[in-house]
Amino acid sequence: MRFEFATATRIVFGDGTAASLPDLARAFGTRPLVVSGASQRQAALISALACETFFASEEPTVDLVREGARRAQQAGCDLVISIGGGSVIDAGKAIAALATNGGEPLEFLEVVGKGRTITVPPLPFIAVPTTAGTGSEVTRNAVLSSPAHRVKASLRSPLMLPRLALVDPELTCALPPAITAYTGLDALTQLIEPYVSSRANPLADAICVEGIRRIAGSLRRAYHDGDDRDARRDMAMASLFGGLALANAGLGVVHGFASPLGGQSNAPHGALCAALLPHGMAVNVRAMLARAPRHPALERYAVVARILTGRNQAAAEDGIEWVRALCHELSVPPLRAWGIAEDDLPAIVQNAAVASSTQANPLPLTTEELTTVVAGAMC
Ligand SMILES: [Zn+2]
Repeated sequence: MRFEFATATRIVFGDGTAASLPDLARAFGTRPLVVSGASQRQAALISALACETFFASEEPTVDLVREGARRAQQAGCDLVISIGGGSVIDAGKAIAALATNGGEPLEFLEVVGKGRTITVPPLPFIAVPTTAGTGSEVTRNAVLSSPAHRVKASLRSPLMLPRLALVDPELTCALPPAITAYTGLDALTQLIEPYVSSRANPLADAICVEGIRRIAGSLRRAYHDGDDRDARRDMAMASLFGGLALANAGLGVVHGFASPLGGQSNAPHGALCAALLPHGMAVNVRAMLARAPRHPALERYAVVARILTGRNQAAAEDGIEWVRALCHELSVPPLRAWGIAEDDLPAIVQNAAVASSTQANPLPLTTEELTTVVAGAMC
C-alpha cells in the first residue's frame, strides 16, 4: 500500500483563540490585507489588526480577486488574512497567490482559463473561518466564478495552502440556522465523499470517521440552538477534518454537480451540496449493487450508516434515509428553489461528468445515473 497525505498548514484550534490572531500574524508579516465579508460581526477583531481591508461580500469572482490582488500590491501588503466563510477564505487565498504571480486570475484558472502553474510563492496567507463548512482553511485551492463563462473553477497549487488556520468555534455561534444547515451539510458531504472515494486512504479514513461522528451528534443541535458551544465546537472540528480529507482523498459526484450548478445560480455552495447529498449517496449505492456488488465502498456506506444512526445493524440505505430526514428537518430547499430549471439539466450533467471531483467518485456513473442524481434533487 502507498498513500500520501500532505498539509503544510499550522492549525490552531480552540474557543477564544481568535484573540491571539494579532500576535500570531506578526510572525508572517507586518502589513496585512484583511479580507472579510459583509457581516460586521468580526469588526473588533479586524480593527485590532491595524490593516488594509478588502470586502468580499459574495462568492468570489475573477474580477473581485483581480481587484484584491491589485489592492495588496498597491498597499505593499506582505500578508493576507481572511476572516469569514468559505467564500472569503477562497477570495483571500486567491488574492495572496495573484499578488505575487502577476494578478490575472484567468492565466491560472482551471477549465475556463489557461491553467498555468503558480510558480511564485504567494504572500503568506492566514485563514480564520467564521462558518463551519468548507474546510477551506486547510485546502490548496480557491473556487472562483467567472460570470462570463457561467461556471466555477479552481485556482490550485500546493503553494496556496494557508500558512496558518486559526479555528475558533466561538466565531460561529452567531450564524443563523439556514447557514448553519448549509455549511454543516457541506462539511458532512466533504467527509462522506472522501471516505467512499476511489482515492480513499487510511489516514483520511480516520479523519472522516471522527468527523462524521461529530456531525451526527451535533449538527441538529447547532441548528436548533446556535449558542450550544459543544455542538459548535464539534461542527468547527468536523469542517476542518473535511478540508483535510478532501484535500488528500478527493470528493465525488455531489461536488461534481456543485461546480456547474454553482456557475448557473447564485445558490450558496453548501445549499447545493445539501440538496444533492442524499441523491448522490442513493445513486452510488444502487449503481454498486447493480454493477459492482463487491465494491469496497459499499461496506463504507454501511459504516457511514452505522455512525450516523448509532445502530450496529444499520445498512447503507439507513444512512441515506438518515441524511434525507436531516435535510428535511433542516429545511434544505430543493435545487428548483435556486432557479435551476429542468431545461438546464442536460448541460449540467455533461459538465458534472467531466468535473474534477467526479473523477474520485467510487465508480463511474452513466449519463442516466447522473441525471437521476440531479433530477432527484430538483424537487
Ligand atoms: Zn463542498
